[in-house]
Amino acid sequence: MDQLPQIDAVTSAIGKLAERLHSVGAESCSTEQAYGRVLSEPLLADRDSPAIDVSAMDGYAIRLSDLKGEALPVAAIAAAGSAPKSLPHGAAIQIFTGAAVPPEADCVIRREDTIELPGQVKIEILIESLYSGLNIRRRGENSKAGDLVLPQGTILNAPSMGAVATFGRAKVMVQRRVRVVVLNTGDELANIGEEVKPWQIRDSNGPLLETWLRQMPWIDFVCRKHVGDTLELVESAIETHLANADAILLTGGVSMGDTDFVPEAIARLGGQVAFHRLPIRPGRPVLGASLHGKLLLGLPGNPVSVAVTSRVIGLPLLRKLAGITPIEEPLKRCLLSEADDKALSLVWFRLVKIDHSSNVKLIGSQGSGDLVSLSLSDGFVEVPAGEGGNGPWPVRWWS
Ligand code: AMP
Ligand code: MG
Repeated sequence: MDQLPQIDAVTSAIGKLAERLHSVGAESCSTEQAYGRVLSEPLLADRDSPAIDVSAMDGYAIRLSDLKGEALPVAAIAAAGSAPKSLPHGAAIQIFTGAAVPPEADCVIRREDTIELPGQVKIEILIESLYSGLNIRRRGENSKAGDLVLPQGTILNAPSMGAVATFGRAKVMVQRRVRVVVLNTGDELANIGEEVKPWQIRDSNGPLLETWLRQMPWIDFVCRKHVGDTLELVESAIETHLANADAILLTGGVSMGDTDFVPEAIARLGGQVAFHRLPIRPGRPVLGASLHGKLLLGLPGNPVSVAVTSRVIGLPLLRKLAGITPIEEPLKRCLLSEADDKALSLVWFRLVKIDHSSNVKLIGSQGSGDLVSLSLSDGFVEVPAGEGGNGPWPVRWWS
């Protein structure tokens, strides 16, 4: 791994663990409930789209060969939702957007290019500018019956829900939701509302991860629990919760301290560690393991580390469990409007904020425990090892 450029080392560590994870099974889902779920079958067109030639404009359907410069009698009106009208020789049919084009017509003249007379229409546009097919959406021009519309592994967003509806799917096959449990380790943790001594801290990682996980409709957030810092407690919490989960995200207890029991607990349960420590900042101690095809991800305890590593490392692994393809979220790059030339020999995730003029700026941070800077940020950029400056760098926004 050391020979690989740092970012490739991270990607290959994720890929190695992803290979060992078993994607969850499929289930039938009514379309009303399918938003945000993952297609477990390809969506095919049930019929041609459009299913018949339709008008793209409000206007008049005609035969080009009937245009001799004189007004044409209007034989009928074709509105959307009616079977196609037939076009007599030497006549026009008034037609509205989305209505079936008469089979005999070869062109639709826009209403604004005509003069409407009682029972007649005069075409007021150069005949040479007209051509067969003008303003007609041809049957099957979007897709033919049986064509692939959306591949298996697609997350059903709003536009794809439109496609599911247009191709008549009252039910779709989707992946079962990925059941995720969050375990927050640490004897120093107190819950919101509890009395907190100066040497204690309130658990912020739990709410942060729960909120993030609940935003994804393909995840079934099972629960989150606080676990004390003993080997027995950590081991039994993992064992108990893994029975009802596909993934456990742990926070804290994954580094070199004497109270860091996550690696040993995972080893005792027979977990196969794919990586422990990656060349990244923040989040270096991160540990990824699998057990019976399920995911055990040990995130370092610091809040910025949790926010960043859950996104960079946790998300692709959860997407693998969910059957989403590709497992990596699509990344955009952004140019920083102000930058320094600082560089690290690790991949550096730096918090950024976007202003009203779309300028993306680095946020000064006191380090991976600085929840205040984290909460003010809009996302973070990924700066490769040894590099600095404005980028453009891959960016991940929090939402
Ligand atoms: P650890 O990885 O357990 O050594 O924790 C690293 C740092 O993160 C310590 O300063 C912890 O107090 C802090 N930390 C651990 N868990 C949490 C949590 N759930 N919420 C906020 N901070 C935490
Ligand atoms: Mg700890």
